[in-house]
Amino acid sequence: MKRMICAGNWKMNKGPQAVEDFLKIFLESVPKDAEMDFILFPQNLVLSQVASRLKGRAVGFGAQNCYWEKHGAFTGENSPEVLKELGAGYCLVGHSERRQIFKESDEDMARKVRALQDLDLLPVLCIGETLDQRTTGKTNAILDVQLSIGLKNLSAGKKFWIAYEPVWAIGTGVVAEVPQVAEAHQFIFKKLQSLVGAAASQVKILYGGSVKPDNAKALAKVEHVDGFLIGGASLDPKNFIGCH
Ligand code: PEP
Repeated sequence: MKRMICAGNWKMNKGPQAVEDFLKIFLESVPKDAEMDFILFPQNLVLSQVASRLKGRAVGFGAQNCYWEKHGAFTGENSPEVLKELGAGYCLVGHSERRQIFKESDEDMARKVRALQDLDLLPVLCIGETLDQRTTGKTNAILDVQLSIGLKNLSAGKKFWIAYEPVWAIGTGVVAEVPQVAEAHQFIFKKLQSLVGAAASQVKILYGGSVKPDNAKALAKVEHVDGFLIGGASLDPKNFIGCH
């Protein structure tokens, strides 16, 4: 049985009280022998609270986004150096909401991936096609471009993961079908082999898009699905744990 990753993207939800409420139940309920590694991605305003509550626990945490410069005159941005200081291990890069609402480009992703790797933080590069791109047969071409550009500045030997999140399945309740997920993850794995050779087998490929306790088991069996990035269902500790 492969050991899976269960990552929760809380998006712009949960202030300090809601974080306390979540963690109280979550930390009491998470099984000691869980077959999954849990990682939380809270908003940055509560990151230090999460950091101190998770000290000594086998639960990872990271940020949903950061800038590519370490520090300086970038008002409103979040420093990867500070993420590191807070003890974060991970950072999402290029979530579809960053791409669509905040107009972040694949070139931006490439800079962020490198900045994080330079600090030994693990970037989780999010990729995925829109419904229009899928229905017009462009899925693989889109994934190819997002991977080629987003990973073009990789630092040799440093870790990174991929989250495949079809945009049409995020927050919609529409989960991609098992064959669709299998095909996309196979394509991503092959592309990673062409980019990093044998090191591709070290890269975790997460699936994201309306994952819930009742569909997680089937998705977990798909080849090259190494875990999940979960939005809505990660807001409730029991649902989140139920995805394992
Ligand atoms: C996400 O935002 O990364 C996500 C996968 O959301 P949801 O699980 O709600 O579809």
